[in-house]
Amino acid sequence: MPEILVVGSLNADLVVRTPRFPQPGETISGEDLQIIPGGKGANQAVAAARHGSQVSMLGRVGRDGFGDLLLDNLRSNNVDSRFVQRDDASTGTAIIVVAENGQNSIVLSPGANAQVSHVDLNTYSASFPTGGLLLLQLEIPSQTVVMAAAQAKEHNMRVILNPAPAKELPEGLVSWSDFIIPNETELSLLTGVKVDDLRSAEQAAKRLLERGAQNVIVTLGANGALIVNKEIIKHIPSFKVDVVDTTAAGDAFIGGFASALLQDKSLEMAVRYGCACGALAATKFGAQPSLPTKEEVERLIG
Ligand code: ADP
Repeated sequence: MPEILVVGSLNADLVVRTPRFPQPGETISGEDLQIIPGGKGANQAVAAARHGSQVSMLGRVGRDGFGDLLLDNLRSNNVDSRFVQRDDASTGTAIIVVAENGQNSIVLSPGANAQVSHVDLNTYSASFPTGGLLLLQLEIPSQTVVMAAAQAKEHNMRVILNPAPAKELPEGLVSWSDFIIPNETELSLLTGVKVDDLRSAEQAAKRLLERGAQNVIVTLGANGALIVNKEIIKHIPSFKVDVVDTTAAGDAFIGGFASALLQDKSLEMAVRYGCACGALAATKFGAQPSLPTKEEVERLIG
């Protein structure tokens, strides 16, 4: 079976719940610290592996305890970590304060993620899974993301780009990506069109088609997802669930969508599968702990 390669970020999420956010200069007490494996790259790798896909991850972590933790976590989730190198920089961390009202405030320290470079791609390019899928996000340097997409094309791989966190897309990346999957905020920033309903999502997605995109799939939170390409414009509704925390709903969607594509599901069925994954991820607290398995998705889809 063709495989999935993720070239992207690995982070340790350091999460503390507090009654409210501290003021500048103020110290407040929070609950016990939770250390949770994260990073969009690693989240999507684990998300895809939970559906039985063969997944490998290419990236960097530090030579510190958090690096050990993230590598162990990949292995225990059946993600091949052979292409993750140890770096002198510290492991990427996200320091997350969650206030009682559910709002969060995050400081991201990219650390080793910022060191993922063309050298890493060249080192491992002979092992890229020919005919498989490459998953990309924007938490590693943009030049590396572009080069990874170019090398994937040489290996006859399809490229899925999740343009998150939102930033200007480098030349070439739009047309090399077979699927671009932004949420509403990311699509707004990419196109300058304020996306807040189906009509504006369609209009903005068409701007990306004009720039050479082949398939744009806009994730719309509780409203599901919208597929826009030259042949179809199709809204896939969401699954109704009891929402606890929507963190990593997008990562769950992408991991599920990618696995479904590899199982030769149609574009619409793969997006529906992704929507089920996103909905299930929203029913549990946290990022990776909330990513659903194939069995859970099949139970929801029926
Ligand atoms: P991101 O996490 O990147 O912001 P979204 O919030 O758009 O992405 O969520 C990704 C997908 O997860 C959506 O397309 C949708 O199918 C599903 N999803 C997200 N939030 C909900 C929700 N409240 N109810 C049902 N499904 C949801």
